[in-house]
Order: sequence, then C-alpha cells, then structure tokens
Amino acid sequence: MANMAPTAAAADPGHPRGRWGLLSVFFTIILYGSLGAIAWGRQSGWTADVAVPPAVNALIESAWGTMLRMAPILQVAVVAQVLMPAVRRRPKLLSYEMCLDVAYALQISFMYLSFLGVIVGSIVWFLQARTGVLFPSISDWPHYVQVGMALWLVDFLVYWRHRLSHHIKVLWPIHAVHHSSERIDVLTTTRLHLLEVMAGGVITIYARRYFGMTAEAAASGFAIYLYWNYYIHTNVRIRHPSVLKYLLVSPFAHRWHHSNEESARDKNFGVVFAWNDWIFGTAYYPDRESNGYGVDSSNGIPLEESWWQHQLYPFRVWARAWSERHGSRSLSAANKALTSD
Ligand SMILES: [Zn+2]
Ligand SMILES: [Zn+2]
Repeated sequence: MANMAPTAAAADPGHPRGRWGLLSVFFTIILYGSLGAIAWGRQSGWTADVAVPPAVNALIESAWGTMLRMAPILQVAVVAQVLMPAVRRRPKLLSYEMCLDVAYALQISFMYLSFLGVIVGSIVWFLQARTGVLFPSISDWPHYVQVGMALWLVDFLVYWRHRLSHHIKVLWPIHAVHHSSERIDVLTTTRLHLLEVMAGGVITIYARRYFGMTAEAAASGFAIYLYWNYYIHTNVRIRHPSVLKYLLVSPFAHRWHHSNEESARDKNFGVVFAWNDWIFGTAYYPDRESNGYGVDSSNGIPLEESWWQHQLYPFRVWARAWSERHGSRSLSAANKALTSD
C-alpha cells in the first residue's frame, strides 16, 4: 500500500463525490433497469414482440441470468448484515455509496459480456497459442478433483496478484479503488477498477487453460471462489475458530485487510484459503475489530467517490508521477547546462 496515508477514522468526512458521480451512477442504474425490464417483460410475455439485434439480445439474456444468479446470495448477505452486523453504522440503504456499489456489481457482468470479454478472450487466445497446455491429461481426471484444483489455482494466483498490487507502486492506484470503500459490506466485493477485472480475468482463464482443466470444472471452481469473496466482504460478526482460521478466510480476517490502521497494512491478502497468509507471513488476527476502513489519497490526488473518477484515478496518479520525474530530469539537465556555461 505504498504512498497511502491511513484515513483518520473519526474525523474523515468521506471521499468527495466527483462532479459526474451521481450522473454516472444513475446512468448505470437506468441502463440496467431498462435491460432488466426488457428481460422481465419478455419472460412475462409483455415485450415478446420487441425486436432487438441478436448481439444485444444475447447481452440482455446473459446480464439478466447473472442478476438472477446473484440475487439470492445478495439477499442472504443483506439479511445477515442486518441481523448480526460486525460494524454498526448508519444504514447504507439507498445512499449514494450503495448506488455506486450496485453500479459496480452490475457493470462487471455487463462489461464482461461485451468489450471486456473480447479483450480478455483475445489476450488469452494470444498467450495460449504460444504456450499450449502443460498437462493435457488433467481434463480426463474426475470432475470434482478438477474443481478443487481450479479453486486452489485461482485462489493461489489471486493471493500473489493481490499482494503484488499492494507492493508495486505502479499497480497500487488500480487496486486502491477496491480499498476506497469506508463501509465494508457485501457490495464492496465488486468495487474494482476495470483494469483489475481484466488482469484477473486474463490470469485466471489463461492459467486454467494452461494447466488443462475443463471449462466446466474451472467455472465451478471460480463460482466457489466468487461466492466466498462475497462472504468475506459481508459485514457479519463471524470469526473462524481454532484450526478453521488457518484453513479458510473469514469476514473478520478480510475486514482487517481493508483496515486503515497502520499495523494492519498489507496483511490478509487471501480470499478463500487462509493458509497462504499464514505460510507467507501476512496473516493478521488481532482480538478486536478495526477502528476504521478505507484509504486516503495517493500523490496528493484525492480518490473521489465516483465511478468515472475511480476509473481515471490510476491514470492521473501515473501522469503526475511521470511529470514529476520528467520535470526533475529537465531541471537537473537545465542546471547542468547552466553550470557548464
Ligand atoms: Zn487489497
Ligand atoms: Zn476486499
């Protein structure tokens, strides 16, 4: 978490909302509302005659399917958060923050089905054409063994990708978007910069193909990973007791990953299996909840609470860093030139 100062939990007024923040949130929600209404209308026969191009049609059906799959999980998580909250705070319901996180949850499925899917698929195809398959015989192994292997693989890769994105300065502004939330709950799971979604997709899909598991086994393994990711972001009072805390990541453990306390910095990177943190020395399990969550700013650039500002944020940080370096070189070159005169 280079360059990041922890936020002062009590005094922090929250991130400023970008100028276009509300507009982008409402645009996404209206877009999805329309897609959902068309899909729902079709199923009930009301809009069966409305003609749309086949590509848009496929998009509507897939986006609707994703929403239907996620709805029960989100409902259980929301009820659990109300019944047994770990961190008590003012309700997030229908707040700006909630709308932004809902927009994130929706846009990931939508964009993956459209241009993100094309980019990720092309990069994976390019890589695979050059490296082939490492263990082609794995695809003949029993399905559930392959599911277990796929789950282990994605989780292991995510641990290291996540850890590197905290430690490599140029990657941190991308991942900082996920840490911008100051009220961690189930919707924080999908608050991710598009570059992070893309990188994660390329690594996970390519690795699965390189190791030779079937697409069905990999999809099941990834689904378990994803549902566990929702679980660990849920604001529930759950700590894993005794030996279980060495095996599986709990909501308590991941909340500490989002903590803004100095002692918790760069800890608990795991998503499903906790043993990576214990083995590689990043486990952190104090006997209390954190006093605050979120991050402040990087290189003096505020992380505004807006979808567009989040997406622009890494580019702004990189541009500032480049101009500072470039500027200092120019200054030293000018200084030398002046001295030699
Ligand atoms: Zn992180
Ligand atoms: Zn998280």
